[in-house]
Amino acid sequence: MDTLERLRVVTDIDDSQWQDLLQLTWWDYVMVRSGKKQLSEQALLRLSEYFDSDPRAVITGKVDFHSIQIQSEKSRWEMPDAYAVANYGRRRTTITTFEYIERNHGWRLRYEVLKHLGLSESILTDPFAPISMQVITDALAYLGHRHFTAKDFFAMGMYSYSGNVNTLLGRFYSELETSKEVIEHMWGDCLNFYEKNCRYRFLKLNEEGALLEVSSDPHVAQEMETTHLGNEYICSLKAGMMASAPMYRGEAPAKVIERCCVHHGAPACVFEITFAKGVLYHAANLNFA
Ligand SMILES: [Zn+2]
Repeated sequence: MDTLERLRVVTDIDDSQWQDLLQLTWWDYVMVRSGKKQLSEQALLRLSEYFDSDPRAVITGKVDFHSIQIQSEKSRWEMPDAYAVANYGRRRTTITTFEYIERNHGWRLRYEVLKHLGLSESILTDPFAPISMQVITDALAYLGHRHFTAKDFFAMGMYSYSGNVNTLLGRFYSELETSKEVIEHMWGDCLNFYEKNCRYRFLKLNEEGALLEVSSDPHVAQEMETTHLGNEYICSLKAGMMASAPMYRGEAPAKVIERCCVHHGAPACVFEITFAKGVLYHAANLNFA
């Protein structure tokens, strides 16, 4: 039963405490986990009581794991110093990134990334709360070391669409006339709703696409004691976010290529965005009426 092991892992309960709670030997627990033995009713009730969950929820695996984790981390967690400064972003992108990780790579990876960074699940609750760009930078660097590719980070950035589509901004984008306008607002006047870490400048913008230059805000970079914020993985994530712009209008994602990058020696990152022609993107939650 993955539910049992997930509860144990996310609440950081050690083996002996866990065996006490379930009144099982470790071997019996292994048997229960592999489905060769059933969890006794008493153990199930003790577990439900301990986690304040409905026994049926424990059986079906429909437990609110994130809340349980937050509850257990409450008394033993503090924001690490490295992430306590330069809080110039909002959490929505970070939250959808972790959603993407869990949905596509499982809860354990989400848990491991947070643990590796010394962060609590509780930082992923309020999309409007401020956050340092260093969090997502380090999260992606960790995934990069775990063999995530530029393609994965691009897909992750495109997934931001699902976190934004039902927000005020998402609805605003969906009502715009062209993809050009979506891109223009998304990386222009609407940007303050997401972050103030970087500066964005259109070198070209028309109905076919755009050339978008991205550079670090010098004050934020100074506060973070670096020259260039982010890393090459963040650039792939941003490229995916740029690609998602036409999707708000029910169109196919744009093609995005990063032509040059500060993390490879260029003075600024430049993204070439090309809109697809006449292809509708079939997202189930889009209204074409
Ligand atoms: Zn770049």
